[in-house]
Amino acid sequence: MLGCVRIACPICKTVLENAPDNHEPRPFCSARCKLVDLGNWLNESYRIPTNERPDAPNDDGADDDFGPS
Ligand SMILES: [Zn+2]
Repeated sequence: MLGCVRIACPICKTVLENAPDNHEPRPFCSARCKLVDLGNWLNESYRIPTNERPDAPNDDGADDDFGPS
């Protein structure tokens, strides 16, 4: 049933008392807040502790003992 819903935006705490039932950026008040939340989430996920490379290829081949003999 289409109607109005109450949305309490978790980002800016805005309360929309009469948001449409199909309010696109739910549960956020606006697309902007949705992006802010996404940005927060990505910052958590992609937190990079150091600049060291996890799997730097050893391209001098000097101590490669894994090839067929
Ligand atoms: Zn908001």
